[in-house]
Amino acid sequence: MSRRAAPVVADLVARARQGDAGAVARLITLVEDASPALREVMESLREHVGHAHVLGITGAPGVGKSTSTNALVAALRTAVRRVGVLAIDPSSPFSGGALLGDRVRMADHAVDPGVYIRSMGSRGHLGGLAWSTPQAVRVLDAAGCDVVIVETVGVGQSEVEVAGLADSTLVLLAPGMGDGIQAAKAGILEIGDVYAVNKADRDGAERTRRELRSMLSMAERRDGAWQPPVVMTVATTGAGIDDLAAEIDRHAAWLSGSGELALRRTARARREVEAIAMTALREQWRRPERTADLDSLAGRVAAGTIDPYAAADELLAEG
Ligand code: GDP
Repeated sequence: MSRRAAPVVADLVARARQGDAGAVARLITLVEDASPALREVMESLREHVGHAHVLGITGAPGVGKSTSTNALVAALRTAVRRVGVLAIDPSSPFSGGALLGDRVRMADHAVDPGVYIRSMGSRGHLGGLAWSTPQAVRVLDAAGCDVVIVETVGVGQSEVEVAGLADSTLVLLAPGMGDGIQAAKAGILEIGDVYAVNKADRDGAERTRRELRSMLSMAERRDGAWQPPVVMTVATTGAGIDDLAAEIDRHAAWLSGSGELALRRTARARREVEAIAMTALREQWRRPERTADLDSLAGRVAAGTIDPYAAADELLAEG
């Protein structure tokens, strides 16, 4: 168990549920460290989750994701609404907010008790984003967040993966970066529930909006299906951000009303269970005696005395 996992789980969970930011942070650290204590944490959280609306934010690097997240927190947060932000950097092993220490939003929201902001690295983690993100979201959900924003930071991450982790997905584009062909190539036309053309103060924003709308209108949708809106924003000044927040709330209401929310959450849970099971298998194979099995099977496959499928069967059969 990690050095940081010492406190009794029940106590941490109880404190997190009372809104203790330190306890929330420690629980997310347990996720990040893949602590064995997580089994107990998830069991304790189980009956306290399912309330938060999970919003994924995706888009190419530089398009304005962190600036928009910062602006959205202010718009979504109300006297009765708490907002959690999980900024995930799949390329970084660092955690605990240090990564974001110099970022403007830390200063904007650091003293607001209704806002939790947390960065999480996942490099080198066996289970990756699909394993760690849902568990961190559960922590923020149980801690009373009404909205949890999941934003990936850093470069080179899969822009599409975040969509599978959220109830609603906001896709950001910017003039010059997000013209139609690029959007289609990146696969983002299928994943967005709400689109924002950010940097609307720049030349070409209107053209980007037109192209995006025409590409979205070509997509086939069932009767009664959600039509993704396109909102123009300037995240640096806040222009359009209230409209964006309103469209996000409208999508949340549509999700619950249409039954789509339950479908999406089941699909998400399926991936989560799969990720936990696969991670457990890989961990088993990393144990020294199993590594020896794998090595010897690999040797036999390379030498041609067994085929790779038969070798995999043997590995699985040994459990
Ligand atoms: P991310 O990499 O997608 O998270 O993008 P950032 O939020 O870090 O923004 C990248 C750069 O674009 C920063 O210098 C921002 O200040 C700038 N930026 C963000 N939104 C806008 C906008 O609406 N208009 C303009 N002109 N610049 C913006």
